[in-house]
Amino acid sequence: MQKGNISVQTENIFPIIKKFLYSDHEIFLRELVSNAIDATNKLKTLSMRGEVKGELGDLTIEIIADKENGTLTVRDKGIGMTEEEVKKYLNQVAFSSAAEFLEKYKDDASIIGHFGLGFYSAFMVADRVEAVTRSYQEGAKGVTWSCEGEPEYILEDNAKEARGTDIVLHINEENKDFLEDHKIEELLNKYCKFLPIPIKFGTKTETIYEGEGEEQEEKKVEVDNIINDTHPAWKKSPSDLSDEDYKDFYRKLYPFSSEPLFWIHLNIDYPFNLTGILYFPKLGNNIEVQKNKIQLYSNQVYVTDDVKEIVPEFLTLLHGVIDSPDIPLNVSRSYLQGDRNVKKITGYITKKVAEKLNDLFKNERETFEDKWPDLNVFIKYGMLSDESFHEKAVKFALLQNTEKEFSTIEEYKEKIKAIQTDKNDKLVMLYTNNPQEHDSFIQSAKGRGYDVLLFDTVIDNHFVQHLEYKLGDVTFVRVDSDTVDNLIQKDETQESVLSEEEQNAVKGVFEGLIGTGGSVTVKAMSPEDQPVVITRPEFMRRMKEMQALQGMQGMDFPESYNLVVNANHELIAKKMKEETDEAKQKELAQYLYNLARLNQNMLKGGELTEFINKTLNFLK
Ligand code: ADP
Repeated sequence: MQKGNISVQTENIFPIIKKFLYSDHEIFLRELVSNAIDATNKLKTLSMRGEVKGELGDLTIEIIADKENGTLTVRDKGIGMTEEEVKKYLNQVAFSSAAEFLEKYKDDASIIGHFGLGFYSAFMVADRVEAVTRSYQEGAKGVTWSCEGEPEYILEDNAKEARGTDIVLHINEENKDFLEDHKIEELLNKYCKFLPIPIKFGTKTETIYEGEGEEQEEKKVEVDNIINDTHPAWKKSPSDLSDEDYKDFYRKLYPFSSEPLFWIHLNIDYPFNLTGILYFPKLGNNIEVQKNKIQLYSNQVYVTDDVKEIVPEFLTLLHGVIDSPDIPLNVSRSYLQGDRNVKKITGYITKKVAEKLNDLFKNERETFEDKWPDLNVFIKYGMLSDESFHEKAVKFALLQNTEKEFSTIEEYKEKIKAIQTDKNDKLVMLYTNNPQEHDSFIQSAKGRGYDVLLFDTVIDNHFVQHLEYKLGDVTFVRVDSDTVDNLIQKDETQESVLSEEEQNAVKGVFEGLIGTGGSVTVKAMSPEDQPVVITRPEFMRRMKEMQALQGMQGMDFPESYNLVVNANHELIAKKMKEETDEAKQKELAQYLYNLARLNQNMLKGGELTEFINKTLNFLK
């Protein structure tokens, strides 16, 4: 037996490990299993080169929990270590740099988990760690290294016959949880699900059927409980995968999600290494729940599902897997954003996504249109947040009108050019975010031959502003923001039936009703238009919406609206004008005003009840 001291520059690395890795201490299992995988892969490589003779046998890695003795073992049948190697690899820990690193980033707790402390992370959960190992080399004897989380270690010979390494953790009191089957299984499923060597955790019962027809018998058998899929879909060639395979893999990743719309298989080895499958989920109008589901792997080892720094914000709406050994993991977040490799990866993914969408649009426009309701938020979000994506998407982004017809932006411009150009030569695109509430406005607009677009997703407020800014020659006007004859300003005036004096009198009556909430305009419109219309000025409304989105309070804009009275409508031009009783005139005005409010969902509570009762009385 030998005793010695682990050579670390910093006297006490262990307290540091325990303290700073505390929040993420479950990663010890990932680190140990990764080491086991490395050791197994090294053996395979040596065997291929002829440096290891004979059959390698079963290389399954085993995880063994022994509750009675309080140990958790990670067993591999890899290259193992000689005594010299144990001393070299396990004792001379390059901890000076690790300690420095931890000191530097101790405030950035989230980064710690990404930093592979490797083997030593075992001390986060164990009082004592043993490595029971035997090298593949001929004539090597077994050695056991044992350490209790102090710089001293013990090294002794053992009688291990099998090639490989057992890492035995004597789990400490606070971490007894890690001896529970369900906990271990959960961690293995999280970190090891797609590792390239089979990983066994206990056994499970499986039902098999023997014989044919009537004779068929159901049998229960004990089989190894293998955690992982050693050949995950993203590592395969696209030509070997059917649509069903892609969907199966999606279900494996997200058992509770509905089927994806389509996917892209990423595979590149120059100038960086990256494989993966990105899925377009059915987004609908619900961004938040779908966000941040991409899983990042490094050589099939799960690293994180927080890829915000690696893919552009809008791509975090996609689902799937990215696997790249070239993404540096042991660095701070701000560094990652500036990293050249990461920038290239970002650009590559954005390009691939845009290409996929463009292909679909070009080759299967009908499918693309069908999927638009589930896709549009994603595309709009991308256009808003990523300049290079906007450039590409502006060609295939669709506009949908209230008739459910789709056009690209260019197509739509062509379509409306003839009648929806204002006196300043700007195209005016009319839209609604609520076809139910705006129905009367939409019908009037259609009556004039105008087209009305549907913009009713969470992101459309921004998108409308964005398009205006980007396109330059287009103004968007919500269909209720002015009277229809004014929506597209064209210097057309109707002859007025009322004199200016009479118009002013009408204005006075209505002003008396509405108080300070809005303003009154009396206008000579078509006799076919409604007698009184409430409109909400586009600019003020947008300001209010922006304010609400940014959660700003205090400088509250009053809800402002316009009451537009149609001086040419029969009820104004004749009935009101001819009414000499002031009270009756006022009653008529009040009734028309309430009708307009009803149309805009502004009549509520007691006023609504009163209005209904009044109407019923009329009918009597
Ligand atoms: P890293 O894996 O990043 O090199 P670790 O601290 O995890 O750092 O491990 C240190 C070294 O110990 C490894 O590089 C490897 O040589 C050796 N080692 C660890 N675990 C095993 C194992 N299961 N089998 C063989 N060698 C191992």
